[in-house]
Amino acid sequence: MVFIRGGGAGSEPVYEVVKTAQRFRQGRDKIAAFVFGGTEKEKVIAMIVNMSDSATEEQINHIIQRIREAGFQPHVTRGTERAIVAAVGSQGRRHEIEALSVAPGVDNVVAIAQPFKLVSRQTRPHPSVVDVAGVKIGGPEVVVIAGPCSVESREQLLDTAKGVKHAGATMLRGGAYKPRTSPYEFQGLGIEALKILREARELTGLPVVTEVMSTEDVDLICEYADMLQVGARNMQNFALLRRLATVKKPILLKRGPSASVKEWLLAAEYLLSGGNDQVALCERGIKTFETGMRNTFDLAAVALAKELSHLPVIADPSHGTGKQSLIGAVSRAAIAVGADGLIVEVHPCPERALSDGPQSLDIPQFERVMRGLSEPLRPLLVSLPAQA
Ligand code: PEP
Ligand code: MN
Repeated sequence: MVFIRGGGAGSEPVYEVVKTAQRFRQGRDKIAAFVFGGTEKEKVIAMIVNMSDSATEEQINHIIQRIREAGFQPHVTRGTERAIVAAVGSQGRRHEIEALSVAPGVDNVVAIAQPFKLVSRQTRPHPSVVDVAGVKIGGPEVVVIAGPCSVESREQLLDTAKGVKHAGATMLRGGAYKPRTSPYEFQGLGIEALKILREARELTGLPVVTEVMSTEDVDLICEYADMLQVGARNMQNFALLRRLATVKKPILLKRGPSASVKEWLLAAEYLLSGGNDQVALCERGIKTFETGMRNTFDLAAVALAKELSHLPVIADPSHGTGKQSLIGAVSRAAIAVGADGLIVEVHPCPERALSDGPQSLDIPQFERVMRGLSEPLRPLLVSLPAQA
């Protein structure tokens, strides 16, 4: 007796199930039943309407309107030469978007195959630049963000801020609300830390990034910080992502310790599809079988994220290794593979740090790492063919 199940949940088409049944019949097996289950999965469609370089504003607006009429959400990207309008949604009529290839001002219409749509390079071929109170992440220069894991006191933060600024950092980090593995560990100073961060910003001019753990804290943190960090543990906190999609502050989105690059980019897609395109990704190491380091810094993921997405990528060698001694080497490697910036934990006295002391650099160590960043790589021993 054979049961054949199929034809549901977006799997094989019905005729495939029938063909399988016929094969069994030829083998003289008895067929008891076909079981069809589930419904076709709702599929998000994204298509890109590439406007020609001579398209007028009126023609672009016409396409935006037609995308809405066809039941999709329009997302416009204006490049220096031409505009791209993406049509995203699951309820729309795809053929109406395909037909726009002959509309005036349109160059061509293509489908985006990847599950992440608005973060994809197909939607925006050129790298995006995220502006954090004047500091540009994703431009020609590598940005260095430095500061303590946690804000512990006014003196600790102001000393660190002055030290890292003097060493060349262009942004300040510091945790006010800390995601700690144990509830008995230091949880952060909360609003008091936000006030100290604001003071450090006023003193040094360095824009500030700090972590937001809960939707409840979003408004308060927006008042104090220039950039909001979504921590690794919260990468798939979809309620938080949806809320942050509506704020007017840039977001630093850390990769979850067990998240694939695809899941990380889909988390970013929540922010962009909800209206916030000021997003920088942050690789901070993943869980592997290795026990010699706190996490395994996934160097190739930095390059892969840059290849798949237009969003800038920041490398976090502190959480990525958990070891002071490896910060310089991993920082240099991350820049070599295309990272747009670094986020490094610095503490005036790492042995006294209330969190992440073993991976924090003191100020002189940070100065040395900074100097090392611009040193050239080793020369290559190569034998090139003689020039004709
Ligand atoms: C941090 O930046 O101090 C932090 C907790 O990072 P992550 O979320 O990557 O662990
Ligand atoms: Mn930390």
